[in-house]
Amino acid sequence: MKTSFAGQRLHNEATARIRRFLDHGQPATPCLVIDLPTVRDRFTALRDALPGVGIFYAVKANPEPEVVGLLAAEGSGFDVASPREIDLCLARGAKPETISYSNPIKKARDIAYAHSRGVRLFVSDSEQDVRALAEHAPGSSVMLRILVNTNSSTYPFGKKFGCAPEMAADLLRLAHGLGLVPLGVAFHAGSQQLDPTGWDAAIADAAEVTAKLRAEGVPLSTVNLGGGLPAGYLDPLPPLADYAAAITASIARHFGEFAPEVMIEPGRAVVAESGVLRSEVVLVSKKSYSDERRWVFLDIGRYGGLAETEGEAIAYPLRTSRDGGPTGPVVIAGPTCDADDVLYQATCYDLPLDLQAGDHVDLLCAGAYTASYSSVAFNGFEPLATYCVR
Ligand SMILES: *Cc1c(COP(=O)(O)O)cnc(C)c1O
Repeated sequence: MKTSFAGQRLHNEATARIRRFLDHGQPATPCLVIDLPTVRDRFTALRDALPGVGIFYAVKANPEPEVVGLLAAEGSGFDVASPREIDLCLARGAKPETISYSNPIKKARDIAYAHSRGVRLFVSDSEQDVRALAEHAPGSSVMLRILVNTNSSTYPFGKKFGCAPEMAADLLRLAHGLGLVPLGVAFHAGSQQLDPTGWDAAIADAAEVTAKLRAEGVPLSTVNLGGGLPAGYLDPLPPLADYAAAITASIARHFGEFAPEVMIEPGRAVVAESGVLRSEVVLVSKKSYSDERRWVFLDIGRYGGLAETEGEAIAYPLRTSRDGGPTGPVVIAGPTCDADDVLYQATCYDLPLDLQAGDHVDLLCAGAYTASYSSVAFNGFEPLATYCVR
């Protein structure tokens, strides 16, 4: 049974800072509050757990300018997917050589724009894109993304990105022939990857492609492990050290004496735990006199930023302004006139029996993939506002 008391992960100082901000400012809800010291702490923990590994923060997880600026100041690189994300990173102090344009789906003119701003590292997974890179970003470094089986992750990436390893090998050869620098193999092991060995199969494939190309006289220097490192929502996680140890062991086992440079592109693991999303109860109701479960409607839903509740994949810890008294089971839904705007129906949440319209429900660990998913104004609801505390 999941209760509203489960989310004690934000350590006390961060909680106090966010509480102070919310209590003092009483900002309109819904809103997301990001604790910047927690972002710094998560980034530093990753850097310490994976020494020597190049960290490229995946901007889509939370594109808040202050978050990007803080990470740039800490020496992070950035994984971007569009010209606008490039502009954001550069405006916030990132150097172009720390930016990886990791989206394999790009327009030729966006490649040219990235190149004009100094970006020289790209990820690709198709012949047309490699040829476009050779033409519009001549001399740049390119990594080829391979398809991976990511079923053990909470959010498998399916088949949209990557190509078969043998095709990746061919495209790296093509890149070499077209005057690009073939840097290595990239992949994404699926988001919120809970299994510390979830990167192993893809690392094995990457090492095989790398060995094949080496034998042909095309040395590849790097492997890009993508994102996937998890954040602590309701269920306990193995410690970060377990993931670091498993990944390091996989690389040693598969690459042997030819140790590559390693890149990672964490998104969720950097920002999720820094965020509290404050919402307000709009309505509490029942569907019949015999119904034991109440329906709790919040002023945030699927279209206001909680896209990751689709399939109830991510279950946020909740905290309410009435915690402490007796609780009972609820269905939790959003405020729009869309039938899919139901957050949790299968997942068991218990909320206080005296919860009523106007009360606050805080979603914890909500710093990743919330503000970036909020629609501009579906049904006339404002996009999710973000505030930062320091
Ligand atoms: C979204 C994305 C990431 C970040 O994934 P997380 O699971 O949030 O760590 C990294 N790399 C690429 C290419 C992505 O698209």
